[in-house]
Amino acid sequence: MMTDIKQSTLLGLALHELTSLVEESGQPQYRAQQLFEAIYRQRVESAEQISTLSQEFRLTLVQKGFSVGLPTVDGKFVSVDGTVRYLMAFADGQSVETVWMPEGDAGEAGDGSEAGNELEKQTSRNWDRATICVSSQVGCAVDCKFCLTGLLGVKRNLTAGEIVGQIVAVLNDQHVAPPRDRVNLVFMGMGEPFLNYDSFIKAVRLLVEGVGIPESRMTVSTAGIVPRIYDLGAEHVRPKLAISLNAPNDELRTRLMPINRKWSLEKLTAAARDFPLRNRERLTFEYVLLDEVNDSEENARELVELIRGVRAKVNLIALNPGPGIPFQTPAQDRVARFQDILIDSGVPTFGRRPRGRDIYAACGQLKRTLEMTA
Ligand code: SAH
Ligand code: SF4
Repeated sequence: MMTDIKQSTLLGLALHELTSLVEESGQPQYRAQQLFEAIYRQRVESAEQISTLSQEFRLTLVQKGFSVGLPTVDGKFVSVDGTVRYLMAFADGQSVETVWMPEGDAGEAGDGSEAGNELEKQTSRNWDRATICVSSQVGCAVDCKFCLTGLLGVKRNLTAGEIVGQIVAVLNDQHVAPPRDRVNLVFMGMGEPFLNYDSFIKAVRLLVEGVGIPESRMTVSTAGIVPRIYDLGAEHVRPKLAISLNAPNDELRTRLMPINRKWSLEKLTAAARDFPLRNRERLTFEYVLLDEVNDSEENARELVELIRGVRAKVNLIALNPGPGIPFQTPAQDRVARFQDILIDSGVPTFGRRPRGRDIYAACGQLKRTLEMTA
């Protein structure tokens, strides 16, 4: 029934909703599949471009006020390392950021000495895989003390169509076609995906079934919204899970992430232990290292104890600094020492290389910065 479709954008509609739409319009049912293919697989930009549909039905769609609903690219900033930060604007004028990170031999420009060639390099195929970092909300309500997005507060949730739309717009801009091209997706942009759970999970399904990005190439990161961790575990189609831990005890974690008052480390690690991992899957714990705050050898040992028994790896992220963030980035040898303690205790631990810091595209730096650099 049309009545339960509140939006007039095609992006974000599931196959059953498209089926209602074509039936309402007196069209044969197979039109729904054609629409689905055109929106998500061919990634058309307007209803007029859907050449499989009859002229008459295309016109009906336009008359009913339906558009595809892609966000507009309001800004595009290219880093010396190949990372591209997009400013995506929606119909109501709100905007978020979406980050494209090519990886592989030619995708990385090294020390930036080849910066002048970056735009040219972006247009030819110079990567063997890429990761898109997608936003789930305009701003964020969680208020982590080290995060620029947190400083914004939350403006609103994104719809499923707006989440999928960011990815479709980037794929179109980069001329990329999954599943042929290897694209990973991380729900680690602006916002807390688990405070917009229904739209997030609907977007995941559309991305898997429509756009063709396998769920095994997707990761969602949460600050620790415990009930939603259980919900995710019960989904048939779901991304891998990353939990932003950032501190090894409640006292410190509550100071850095006030949400820890509501869901303590005990509840959070219980949810992590209960999370039904698939074959060979590992959970990820993210840990932002703040100089002299949570990066001591003692903290590393506490962390090992905290996560003992969870099949997990740890991603260490040295703080990406920003204006108004009252913490410092630890020196490289402190990061290395922390990492060594975890590895020596048998915890697989990786240091996440910051991407696109120069264009404010790195973790925790997303706040709709309009300038190229700070
Ligand atoms: N809201 C979700 C996902 C977006 S944040 C979450 O918090 O998990 C993605 C990651 O960036 C999180 O692991 C977060 O801890 C990290 N992060 C936030 N601010 C950062 C900063 N200033 N430097 C480095 N990483 C940061
Ligand atoms: Fe929100 Fe994640 Fe930033 Fe915390 S780290 S304020 S949850 S975006």
